[in-house]
Amino acid sequence: MSFVIAAPCIADYSCVEICPVRCISPAPGEPGFAQAEQMYIHPALCIKCGACADACPVGAIFTAAALPPQWQHYARINREYFEQ
Ligand code: SF4
Ligand code: SF4
Repeated sequence: MSFVIAAPCIADYSCVEICPVRCISPAPGEPGFAQAEQMYIHPALCIKCGACADACPVGAIFTAAALPPQWQHYARINREYFEQ
């Protein structure tokens, strides 16, 4: 079960830079980077290392299983970002 980015994200890109498999988007230079209100984790590429959650300054990253009730839908939101 991959990690998921939820509502508190302030798009400071700390997690993008630290992810060892570069599965968090949009990264600098990618489409949508300038307009991004939050980051998204590719559920199939995430290796579940937890480095992003440790680096996030606002506690916006959870395992899908540990998402708080009000943010359960962010698992779908993260997945659908990569289906566009
Ligand atoms: S848990 Fe690890 S692999 Fe998955 S998004 Fe976070 S840093 Fe990347
Ligand atoms: S480290 Fe946290 S606040 Fe920063 S972009 Fe990643 S999820 Fe968003």
